[in-house]
Amino acid sequence: MKQTIKCCDFFGKMRHHFDWFTYQDDNGQKVYCMPVLKSCDGHTKLRVNNCPSCGKEIRNIELRREK
Ligand SMILES: [Zn+2]
Repeated sequence: MKQTIKCCDFFGKMRHHFDWFTYQDDNGQKVYCMPVLKSCDGHTKLRVNNCPSCGKEIRNIELRREK
């Protein structure tokens, strides 16, 4: 996956633990954005604003599959 914001290796390894909102860009490609964590009750979504490892602000990060 290509990240619009460069972060540490750790983020790439743990990004599947997050829920991602998705949309389709102009090329019809699926884009993953706004990582969130589900809370224990399963309803509340906590937005991930910073990388849990290096603390970089990743609030506006987007992921696209490599071509
Ligand atoms: Zn990081």
